[in-house]
Amino acid sequence: MATQRVLDFLATRRPSGPCLVVDLDVVADNFHAFEKALPESKIYYAVKANPAPEILRLLAGLGSSFDTASVAEIEMALDAGATPDRISFGNTIKKERDIARAHELGIDLYAVDSVEEVEKVARAAPGARVFCRVLTDGEGAEWPLSRKFGCVPAMAVDVLRHANRLGLVAYGVSFHVGSQQTDLGAWDKALGDAKSVFARLAEEGILLKMVNMGGGFPTRYLKDVPTAQAYGQAIFQSLSKHFGNRLPETIIEPGRGMVGNAGTIKSEVVLISKKADNDNVRWVFLDIGKFGGLAETMDEAIRYPIVTTRDGDEKAPCVLAGPTCDSADVMYEKMPYPLPLTLTIGDEVLIEGTGAYTTTYASVAFNGFEPLRSYVI
Ligand SMILES: *Cc1c(COP(=O)(O)O)cnc(C)c1O
Repeated sequence: MATQRVLDFLATRRPSGPCLVVDLDVVADNFHAFEKALPESKIYYAVKANPAPEILRLLAGLGSSFDTASVAEIEMALDAGATPDRISFGNTIKKERDIARAHELGIDLYAVDSVEEVEKVARAAPGARVFCRVLTDGEGAEWPLSRKFGCVPAMAVDVLRHANRLGLVAYGVSFHVGSQQTDLGAWDKALGDAKSVFARLAEEGILLKMVNMGGGFPTRYLKDVPTAQAYGQAIFQSLSKHFGNRLPETIIEPGRGMVGNAGTIKSEVVLISKKADNDNVRWVFLDIGKFGGLAETMDEAIRYPIVTTRDGDEKAPCVLAGPTCDSADVMYEKMPYPLPLTLTIGDEVLIEGTGAYTTTYASVAFNGFEPLRSYVI
């Protein structure tokens, strides 16, 4: 739910047009909850979830490290006050000249998932530490990450062996169980796979040190989700089960779980209409849609809570759509969204839990609609 600070900001500033308001106090609370839930793990905030400078500065000040995917994100983390030893280049797909630039900036930790990428890192960042990403099935995640990143564990052994041979530090294994992962057990299989890579390489005298357990920690949308504490317990149990009392260094990379519930989007109803007089489903067009920042409604994967000033009134199902002239700019149609029958053109609505993956997904000027404005308070 929007915090009082966010509601007060909207009431006094009355920004026109759709906008995101992020409450930094909530981000700080989330950071502390992760610290408490997994006290032995280092936190690398996934910058792509929301790279607002105020958020990066806050987290840098709290002691967070940063997971980045490009030179620009590395520079943002440095500008926010993070030192290079607190930044990883976590994208497995990098141009060699970008690796060289990161190396110049002092970055020493790189993700890989192929021998081809290892060769680039060995040339452009000699002696750096690398970790290899293994595939997960993404089951239980509402926003799974598919097979784009990672390789099977047997290949990870080859990749890290190759890194070692080329003079890199074969440092560890990473995985991502899929975003908005609500199954506490999802980390268990991946940690078992990580352990198998550790064991195989140990037989050859290559001693890995670190497991990067990725992101996946959820934001509460319409359904309750387990607490950070519950995730911490489940993950710690799996770590102990697979690694015994020789626990590796661990990293987590929360993105959504760090900023999702800190943000609220204010939007306006532009049109309410029907396709035929006898239709019982209304179409509600907002001034924000898939191209204005709500891209995660794709396939109706993420279902945001929508709050109106008329929520006490009787509700009926609506199709929700954005303002652009693209027919894909429809958000909830397969599973219509219940909204008050009294909802009126011109009403403002709040879309909750939108602190992550909204500003970064907004298009620059599709149909002349400006990118999603953001206020961090
Ligand atoms: C996007 C991403 C994350 C953050 O994932 P969330 O599900 O938002 O926590 C973490 N690590 C990597 C490598 C990512 O690409």
